[in-house]
Amino acid sequence: MTTMEDDAWQDLIGISADPPDRRDKCEQCKRPAVVCWCPALPQPPLAVASQIVILQHPAEEKRSLRTALMLQLGLEPGKCVVYKGKRFPNHKNHAELQQIFDSPQTLVLYPSKDSVPLEEIDRSGGPYTLVLIDGTWPQAKAIYASSPALHRLRQVKLISVGTSDYIIRTQPTEGCLSTLETAAQCLAVLEAQPDLRQVLVRPLHALCKYQLDNGAVEHQSKEFLMKTNQYPKPIGKRLSRLLNQTVCGSAEKET
Ligand SMILES: [Zn+2]
Repeated sequence: MTTMEDDAWQDLIGISADPPDRRDKCEQCKRPAVVCWCPALPQPPLAVASQIVILQHPAEEKRSLRTALMLQLGLEPGKCVVYKGKRFPNHKNHAELQQIFDSPQTLVLYPSKDSVPLEEIDRSGGPYTLVLIDGTWPQAKAIYASSPALHRLRQVKLISVGTSDYIIRTQPTEGCLSTLETAAQCLAVLEAQPDLRQVLVRPLHALCKYQLDNGAVEHQSKEFLMKTNQYPKPIGKRLSRLLNQTVCGSAEKET
């Protein structure tokens, strides 16, 4: 083989079989570099005494703009753990979750007739592990119903929810928060550090700001729109389309 042929051969085997990925992705959040929210993460990650355990419905990861990941990266490693499935514990996580469910320091955030306000939990009994169910409300109810281990945990609810900062997607009701906002609010209560919420939701703000700057429409909750008579009613197609464009037009499909 001549040197030239050899060089040509080397060039040929140097070509990757896959086309290069044109969109540079952030290693950490896996989002395209232009929409990476990592610079908004607390640096260094926050040290907290409490632990958050997220039980995530498999459909939620796609739906939620991965706000659970924002929480995982915002806290010290191991302070936020995510398990996926439709019932818990399951064969993939049985040993780890059973240990968590058996601890008297484990609480589950679930609104039921027995749930007590998180704000009233005796903090001297902690540090606590707080279990959150991540999914739409029907998904969360289904997970709860098929996970008897959750029924035995102390059930808590949040009183001081406030309004969601997650303004890209229409919220079903006022006070309906993203997983990140819910967890951040719970941590603020459990750690008795009111500022925690603000610090932890910054990546979400960064994401929303980017989306709004790039044409997404700022959303009010459906409840608010109905109250103020802005929610599209079954009226003529043309008017309904117009309303949908101006009121409900969204970068993300509603679920
Ligand atoms: Zn990133």
